[in-house]
Amino acid sequence: MDLAHERTQMVDRQLARRGVRDGHVLEAMREVPREAFVPEGLQEFAYLDTALPIEAGQTISQPYIVGLMIEAAHVRPGDQVLEIGAGSGYAAAVMSRIAERVYGVERHELLARLAAERLERLGYDNVEVRTGDGTKGWPEAAPFDAILVAAGGPAIPQILKDQLTIGGRLVMPVGESQREQQLVKVTRVDATRFKEEDLGGVMFVPLIGEHGWTDDARARRPTEPRSFEPAPAPSIAGLIRAAAEPLPALDDPAFGVLFDRFADARVVLLGEASHGTSEFYRARAAITRRLIEQHGFTIVAVEADWPDAASLDRYVRHRPAPAHAEPPFRRFPTWMWRNTEVEAFIEWLRGWNLQRPAEDRAGFYGLDLYNLSASIRAVLDYLDRVDPDAAEVARQRYACLMPWAKDPQAYGRMALTRGYGGCEEAVVKTLSDMLEKQLEYVAQDPESFLDGAANARLVKNAEAYYRAMYYRAPESWNQRDTHMFETLCALLDAKRPPAKAVVWAHNSHIGDASKTEMGAVRDELNIGQLCRERFGRDAALIGFGTDTGTVACASDWDAPIEIKLVNPSRPDSYERLAHDSGIDRFLLDLREGVHQPLRDRLIEPRLERFIGVIYRPEAERWSHYSACILPQQFDAYVWFDKTSAVTPLPTRLHKGAEETYPFGL
Ligand code: SAH
Repeated sequence: MDLAHERTQMVDRQLARRGVRDGHVLEAMREVPREAFVPEGLQEFAYLDTALPIEAGQTISQPYIVGLMIEAAHVRPGDQVLEIGAGSGYAAAVMSRIAERVYGVERHELLARLAAERLERLGYDNVEVRTGDGTKGWPEAAPFDAILVAAGGPAIPQILKDQLTIGGRLVMPVGESQREQQLVKVTRVDATRFKEEDLGGVMFVPLIGEHGWTDDARARRPTEPRSFEPAPAPSIAGLIRAAAEPLPALDDPAFGVLFDRFADARVVLLGEASHGTSEFYRARAAITRRLIEQHGFTIVAVEADWPDAASLDRYVRHRPAPAHAEPPFRRFPTWMWRNTEVEAFIEWLRGWNLQRPAEDRAGFYGLDLYNLSASIRAVLDYLDRVDPDAAEVARQRYACLMPWAKDPQAYGRMALTRGYGGCEEAVVKTLSDMLEKQLEYVAQDPESFLDGAANARLVKNAEAYYRAMYYRAPESWNQRDTHMFETLCALLDAKRPPAKAVVWAHNSHIGDASKTEMGAVRDELNIGQLCRERFGRDAALIGFGTDTGTVACASDWDAPIEIKLVNPSRPDSYERLAHDSGIDRFLLDLREGVHQPLRDRLIEPRLERFIGVIYRPEAERWSHYSACILPQQFDAYVWFDKTSAVTPLPTRLHKGAEETYPFGL
């Protein structure tokens, strides 16, 4: 085993990626062999992201915690440093590579002796370790530029603060319970004043001594965990590692097989954690392919506008293109559907359908409602063909919306500011008239009725969506997701039973909103939640996630496409837990009873990252993270640790180039 290599990796992955930036700390931790500080037989585990047991029932701290504390204490060359709770001597060794001199105090004589021997063997001769009660400090050697306390006490002893230089820093876990503490940093401002900062929650073994906890208190609590568990994260990551089912390569036919367990559902909803990640598209294509080939799914319904998706649907089901179809997906954000990953799936679907009778072919449909103008046109075209009188009436009604069709947001503004009655009645009536004549229209041609009614529904719901946008954000979101759900139900109803659908949309639409901040705080619902309410266990909600990589996105709405780097995930996120499992790509079955101990641990809400078409890495916490309960939000979670941006297809044609179907390339 190449421990030097593991050490470098530990520094990069466990420290640098989690935000430890101090060059002195990173360099010192790249140098000190942690394996020399663990008991015989544990060397091979020296670079795991966890604390390890040492002699006397104590523990050696998790590398990250060591790095974090030394960085917080701002240990600098030339400094005199005191460590209380030297334990194995590892943290003292790291600090000795930076500071001028390090003093360590350890309560257990055996530990102090072993630490001193290890340090000597390594030739680290600027460290001194002695046995004693560290809560009293080391008055003969004071003052110190930095003091690290590696065990948790009820309060910071004044006697320690008094041993700091002016400007000196003390870092210590403080908490009323002996299990959990806040990491506190104290800076000495002058002779009498001290500044305190809270660095977040941690779990350390108790500090036992005159100015700490008494030994009796410990004896009264026999259940007190003896090992140092710095945060719940590592053990959850371990449970994830055990439960995770590693996924084969994306082009391996075995990829889709792992999802067979969801094939009995009527609706399988596949999410994505961004709108511009190649792996998410390819994974969804692989799973969908399996569901179509082996399990009778015939509907692929995606977060795209109906009329745009309809162009691709005609292509994949070998139906003629409409007379004046605009090239699809020409509006922002074009890369979301106009990319090589989608193109490859569309080509596969067309090939698959070629050998099947029309009624068995799988179609590609849009659930979204932004392309108002194309839908108005499609409704009128349809009625012109089947019912010219009705077309005339619809034309007059839609006239109300026509001035705004290309800029529906302006319609929303108008409807609000001028007390303008709006076009609600006009669009509602157009749809209800059509549905009333459903039997008659379907008898003529069921396929084009489905299309005509879907467009009329889109116009009706888009009108309400844009109107709501200006006065109540949640209502407009709900309008949009309810539209998606209605469109999905219309598709399921229109197909020969038992019709089964795969849905592709963002995690924010797919994951049950009532189990996230969206529902709990903002009253927002979504298609995933509505599917669960309607179909119960016959809806499978599958979320996707990633740690780092690249993503296709924009900085603002309507701004040009950019490829940006995705920040490593935050320490307090679900993504970090998945990353810490150490498995690059996996499926995690989150259904009740499958991996119950893990599910129980994951049930505590955490942050989850949502990247849409806009990504602002510099404002990530507030723009992109939101609290969720992952195992209730999804039935399964698909993880790709490192991901890459989708490959967009060009949107502009060369002058004179012929438009070819379907992407106009
Ligand atoms: N920094 C150490 C981690 C040690 S764990 C490392 O990297 O290995 C905390 C240590 O604090 C334990 O070894 C425990 O014995 C010691 N300890 C607890 N109370 C103490 C006290 N009052 N004085 C000195 N050491 C103490």
